[in-house]
Amino acid sequence: MTNAQRILELKMNHALGADDLKALYTTLNAEEEQMLFDAACEARRAVYGTDVYLRGLIEFSSWCKNNCTYCGIRRGNRNCGRYRLDPDEIVECADKGHALGFRTIVLQSGEDPWYTDDIICDIVSRIRRAHPDTAITLSIGEKSRESYQRYFDAGANRYLLRHETINPEHYRMLHPEEMSRDNRIRCLYDLREIGYQVGCGIMVGSPYQTVDYIVEDLLFMKEFHPQMIGIGPFIPHKDTPFRDMERGTVEDTLHLLSIIRLLQPDVLLPATTALGTIDPRGREKGILAGANVVMPNLSPTGVRTKYMLYDGKICTGDEAAECRRCMERRVEQVGYHVVVSRGDWKG
Ligand code: SAH
Repeated sequence: MTNAQRILELKMNHALGADDLKALYTTLNAEEEQMLFDAACEARRAVYGTDVYLRGLIEFSSWCKNNCTYCGIRRGNRNCGRYRLDPDEIVECADKGHALGFRTIVLQSGEDPWYTDDIICDIVSRIRRAHPDTAITLSIGEKSRESYQRYFDAGANRYLLRHETINPEHYRMLHPEEMSRDNRIRCLYDLREIGYQVGCGIMVGSPYQTVDYIVEDLLFMKEFHPQMIGIGPFIPHKDTPFRDMERGTVEDTLHLLSIIRLLQPDVLLPATTALGTIDPRGREKGILAGANVVMPNLSPTGVRTKYMLYDGKICTGDEAAECRRCMERRVEQVGYHVVVSRGDWKG
């Protein structure tokens, strides 16, 4: 098959074998790249039109008990400024987001045991009561099935947990001994069975990643069929063991966004902050490659610089309202349309 035929195959059948995925990903020329982007945009348009969904992101704690080798807020980083917002501050932030028009609030943090299940449920149920029209997304890491069930019963609707890599050997190279790929995947299946809309995903160009691993990830995601897929470039952080590793590239990230869109036209796919960090127009390019979600930051400006997952992270200075306006401008400049509804999955 030629790349043109591969793209056509993806367009028609939303599927492609491992060898052809690998060939497509590794041999795209400029003309084929444009074909790929166009095909991805067409596939998205059929499901979501030109709508781009806004999610208000609240990064509520930079404390983490894990020691993921790539991550700037890993336990072992003594230079990380640690903070945690108390439940009142988190609820206030969510209120502010709602007043700005956000109908999806994402609560993300390191794995911080200070927030017991009771506290998380308290936060979720207070937001749920105050804003019945708003989707609540959690992104707080690996928990027991019972905990996930409690958060769900308290009113959480969605959960983001990137699997990072489906390959166990690769997983081992990115995480300390006490973590495992199997537990992370267990979490994803538990979340789905409980009834959450679930998001998984990977970093593009993470250390030791090979094209074969990426193909395994694509096939896993195709099979798991999550509602959301988060992918962004790996960016080294100066206070981690991966400080001298290469970052992922804009091109690879855009190509993967398009391939994922074509494999799964109904997926909710963010143009991530990490992509905006390595390219000033990264998020716009992401949308033009098939992304349909952006996640402006709602965290209080006083704590933003402490939630540094990687070096150079953007949007650490702007007030929430300014972040919203800025994203709106960017999305509209490339011909898309920001919508502030819940933006549920259309599968
Ligand atoms: N504790 C939560 C949230 C983790 S931070 C959890 O475990 O899910 C959210 C995502 O940021 C991670 O899943 C990871 O894919 C990404 N991330 C972490 N460090 C990064 C880095 N150095 N470069 C790019 N992305 C990174």
